[in-house]
Amino acid sequence: MTSLPRFLMFVDNEFTPAVSGRWFSSFDPARGVPWAEVAAGGPEDVDRAVQSADRAFRSADWARLSASDRGVLLNRLAELIATHSGELAAAETRDNGKLLAEMRGQMAYMPRWYRYFAGLADKIEGAVLPADKPDMFAYTRLEPLGVVAAIVPWNSPLLLTAWKLAPALAAGNTVVIKPSEFTSTSITPFLDLVRQAGFPPGVVNAVTGTGAEVGAALVEHPLVRAVAFTGGEAAGMAIGATAGRRLIPMTLELGGKSANIVFPDADIGRAVNGIVGGIFAATGQTCVAGSRLLVHRSVAAEVLDRVTELARSARIGDPMDLDTQVGPITTEAQMQRILGHIEEAKSAGARVLLGGGRASGGICDSGWFVLPTIFGDVTPDMRLVRQEVFGPVLAVLPFDTEDEALSLANATDYGLAAGVWTNDLNRAHRLAAGLQAGSVWVNTYRTSGPMAPFGGYKNSGLGREGGQLAVLHFLQQKAVWVDMGAAGPPPFTMKL
Ligand code: NAD
Repeated sequence: MTSLPRFLMFVDNEFTPAVSGRWFSSFDPARGVPWAEVAAGGPEDVDRAVQSADRAFRSADWARLSASDRGVLLNRLAELIATHSGELAAAETRDNGKLLAEMRGQMAYMPRWYRYFAGLADKIEGAVLPADKPDMFAYTRLEPLGVVAAIVPWNSPLLLTAWKLAPALAAGNTVVIKPSEFTSTSITPFLDLVRQAGFPPGVVNAVTGTGAEVGAALVEHPLVRAVAFTGGEAAGMAIGATAGRRLIPMTLELGGKSANIVFPDADIGRAVNGIVGGIFAATGQTCVAGSRLLVHRSVAAEVLDRVTELARSARIGDPMDLDTQVGPITTEAQMQRILGHIEEAKSAGARVLLGGGRASGGICDSGWFVLPTIFGDVTPDMRLVRQEVFGPVLAVLPFDTEDEALSLANATDYGLAAGVWTNDLNRAHRLAAGLQAGSVWVNTYRTSGPMAPFGGYKNSGLGREGGQLAVLHFLQQKAVWVDMGAAGPPPFTMKL
């Protein structure tokens, strides 16, 4: 019998073990050892959760709740999250190794997502249509879809859950959450808050387990009516194929290979901070990581020196320590993938300007730590420049003209984000228009808010999370025609 804490699934507002009684380990990435056990769900648990969500969707408690009252519940949840943000932050750091300093900020900010969509719940309006037929009254209704599968990766589990859960609930759907098998524990204290907020049983459920066993079964389940997914490209494509075959709508928030572009007229100190934060904050494990630095040749040496010096000074260590600036990689497998990218880049002829391997000393000897790494002498065809590393690895490419910068930035299969560093207003807007990326930051990097749409161009995904229109992903439109005329419809032709 293990002495590690155990984390359960959540079905019908009850915490429950897996039907099979199986468990899997969750690891502490800073120490490389298991610290908790998580219920290992399977298709039978998915079925229980989806059935519960489907019952809730059709129940009077949820279906007949007014949109304003859905907003009240979401606001209550927001307040509870705000009150418990410190515990939620510690729970996330323990499990995924993101800096406590970052998670505290993220959890303190997270209530805003729930408040934003709480406010939107009773502003979801159909329309009266200007029907072009006499005596005809026509209008639209916006109706929820049913059970939504929310599938989440390991890098920001609760925030990326919020991006799906808040709009899906505001629209009147019910949800089954599938957290990453590497970070399934922080959802437990969060779900306790969902229950305290007063959501009826079955409106929010969570099934823990692997992507292959739980995630795939969820997307296949006949009662699941939409999928909201954040994760890697391969899983996104598999989910998209299933959703396509099942003809259900989906949003896919996938990876990136985002560029920070520095022009000579930029405030260089500001750009240096943005570049370092863009790739080394969260140890590069963010979808929007600014993993390519495109820098004008005239300032390349200065920018590179300053970026390298600042990155070299980063304190690497225990993510629970508020002074730490670079924490561990969440999984051992991901650390090995990053080290593989580094070795391949070296063999391809790229020059290591900083780092280039595992960090060592102190806690780094037991946990999964990679040094902040910077590569020069890279060419656009290298895998390092084309593929997402999802780690603290920066590839630097000089450019000579604005056109060249734009075409280098867009020369990727991805299109999630980009940073532009310039004090030339016209250039900033030219670049903002020309960049094929879902988010463009000018003289800043890696910021977001519930009012802004977030998502990708090209292989970075489909659909947008955040912003008023995000709620449309969780709704369907119905057109209603009411013929008030005395004559009624013609028997053998269409009424036009
Ligand atoms: P992943 O794709 O391996 O897993 C994401 C989630 O999908 C997990 O819960 C996993 O269990 C599940 N899953 C995996 N295969 C599945 C399948 N066939 N069917 C159903 N579910 C399946 O991603 P990850 O390694 O956890 O996260 C890292 C990736 O996420 C990176 O590529 C990163 O860029 C991306 N990401 C994107 C965004 C964004 O908003 N665009 C944000 C954060 C992370």
